[in-house]
Amino acid sequence: MIVSSTADRSIDPPLRVMALHALLYCERLFYLEEVEEIRVADANVYAGRRLHDDVAGLDDETPEKRSLELSSDQWGLFGKVDAVRRRDGKWVVYEHKRGRCRRGDNKEPLAWDSDRIQAVAYAVLLEEHFGESVPEARIRYHADKATAFVQIDQQARDDLRTAVTRADHLRNTVGRPAVTENERLCTRCSLAPVCLPEEERLLENRGETASDTSSPEAGAYPSNRERQTLHVTAQKAYVTRRGESLVVKTEEGDQVLPIEQVDTLVIHGHGQVTTQAIHLCAWKGVGIEWMSYGGRFTAGLTNSPGRVQQRIRQYRALARPDNCLRLAKALVHCKIENQLKYLLRSTRSEAAKREQIQPSIDRIRECVKKSSSSPSLETLRGLEGMAAKQYFAALPVLLGQSVPDELRPTGRTRRPPTDRFNALLSYGYSLIQATVHRSITEVGLEASLGFLHQPRSAAHPLVLDLMELFRTSLWEVPLIGSVNRLQWKTDEDFSIAGAQVWLSQEGRKKAIGLFEQRLQESYKHPLMGKSLTFARLVELEVRLLEKEWTESPGLFAQWRLR
Ligand code: SF4
Repeated sequence: MIVSSTADRSIDPPLRVMALHALLYCERLFYLEEVEEIRVADANVYAGRRLHDDVAGLDDETPEKRSLELSSDQWGLFGKVDAVRRRDGKWVVYEHKRGRCRRGDNKEPLAWDSDRIQAVAYAVLLEEHFGESVPEARIRYHADKATAFVQIDQQARDDLRTAVTRADHLRNTVGRPAVTENERLCTRCSLAPVCLPEEERLLENRGETASDTSSPEAGAYPSNRERQTLHVTAQKAYVTRRGESLVVKTEEGDQVLPIEQVDTLVIHGHGQVTTQAIHLCAWKGVGIEWMSYGGRFTAGLTNSPGRVQQRIRQYRALARPDNCLRLAKALVHCKIENQLKYLLRSTRSEAAKREQIQPSIDRIRECVKKSSSSPSLETLRGLEGMAAKQYFAALPVLLGQSVPDELRPTGRTRRPPTDRFNALLSYGYSLIQATVHRSITEVGLEASLGFLHQPRSAAHPLVLDLMELFRTSLWEVPLIGSVNRLQWKTDEDFSIAGAQVWLSQEGRKKAIGLFEQRLQESYKHPLMGKSLTFARLVELEVRLLEKEWTESPGLFAQWRLR
């Protein structure tokens, strides 16, 4: 059998048979997994693995060969078939599936298209392997204990050829395929949190479905993160590996955390991480971030595969000045409007305070208006700076009367902060920076290529850009609340060296606790019409940014503080 395909086998690597399963399920899923190399193992995937490991063994009473590895240069395919058996003198392919089968007109069990193509592929690989025909494959659906029979005839071979050709074509295109029209597929798709199908459909039906949270796919983007960030603040801490866990060794003893419970390891100051622990994190997709003792974001590490197509799209989009200006306008508008909303909200029932900051409110409002029609990035940066000056001038007014003078700021100072309030602000911004950096690398974007900030040696422009969306909501709001609740001790939470003020060990722990608590708080996204934790909101905005240059512009930076 000669396979007609657009692929150059000397260049294109062979394809996993499982990839054809994804292709028939949804072309976008195939593209995300095979081209962008994004794979998420969710509960269904893990359950599927367990089925192959455990149940398949019990069910196959007389297997001739199990987990047989097969490949074919001619088809450009490779994979591992669950089992093959001799039946009536012929080899038969056996596949196992957790779910239910499709039913025919007479309720007879039938294979789903994606399962069928997978079985056909294994059958033709087996034919090549043994040099004899394989007329049949059987798929056992364990949820309803039914077996579907698949004939390996000419139609099956033609369908396989069509699928391989289509897969090769998609592997050589830059754009992601559209989301599937069959919304039910998305509810069972492990890549829904990356793909964001409902957001895409939202754009198509804007105004009709924005608040429709009852649709079947409404929960496809998880509202909460499943794992937690591990902050290591002790200066003599030593992080190492024990089996599938990270072990944090400090003077106070050992703390053991299964790696499956961790999404990021953040080292504050001089803690050490062993190579073994780094390997475990890289293997499990856990990012590592380093922050200086003083609270500056230093570096981040993630085992991000080379998502070349994703980067090409980003480079192309952000090389265009009109794109950069459009995105920067949306970003600055969102940032300034959130600052304005916070000032208005915080003084809503305090007439004297409102009167005091009214001039600042008026000027910020002007900046909000002008930002939408700004003709250049320079003008936009000027407006952002003007608004920030007014905002920071107004912030001290939001502090209650009982707040001690030592915690009241005297303007915005940084590098280094010269008062306690500014030390708190700077530390929180560094935590935001690490969070945004983590989300950018997780999504697979290039942090060095932004659209508003200029490249600088010490910081990634795209991280600096996206941080602007979250300074007020993620840090200034909870911080001012905590200061007003008198949660900070002017002595033990700070260390003062000449004119410089930093957080002490106690202060850092408190700040991290406050920040992590904020990340877990829920926020109802006005466009998506559903609640997300702030941790998920950060990641969502990074994904929506990427959509600005893929297929669905118009959703980035649209959220606002209530
Ligand atoms: S979420 Fe839906 S559209 Fe996206 S890859 Fe999965 S099945 Fe396809």
